[in-house]
Amino acid sequence: MAYKKEKKEQQEIALERIRILFELAGRHASEGLEELARRNVELARSVGMRYNVRIPRGLKGRYCKGCSSYLTAKNSKTRLNSKEKKVEVKCVNCGKVSKCAYK
Ligand SMILES: [Zn+2]
Repeated sequence: MAYKKEKKEQQEIALERIRILFELAGRHASEGLEELARRNVELARSVGMRYNVRIPRGLKGRYCKGCSSYLTAKNSKTRLNSKEKKVEVKCVNCGKVSKCAYK
């Protein structure tokens, strides 16, 4: 059906936009423009939500799920929890800790 095809195309475009927005966020963050970087991540997340597209795996750990900050070495603290075998990333801006298993 025409509608289905359209939706798929829209999702592909949405994914492309998410990638571009994250790229921009990374560039802004490296220039010290944290607020702009955060805005880019926020936009990328809302694009993903509107078109029902997930944030690509490689980009998932790069932002804070609490406040949408683009996480860099400056605004996050990463440590390993060897008991739980997890990487813990703490956002300095809002204090949210996200965990991710490693092996
Ligand atoms: Zn945060």
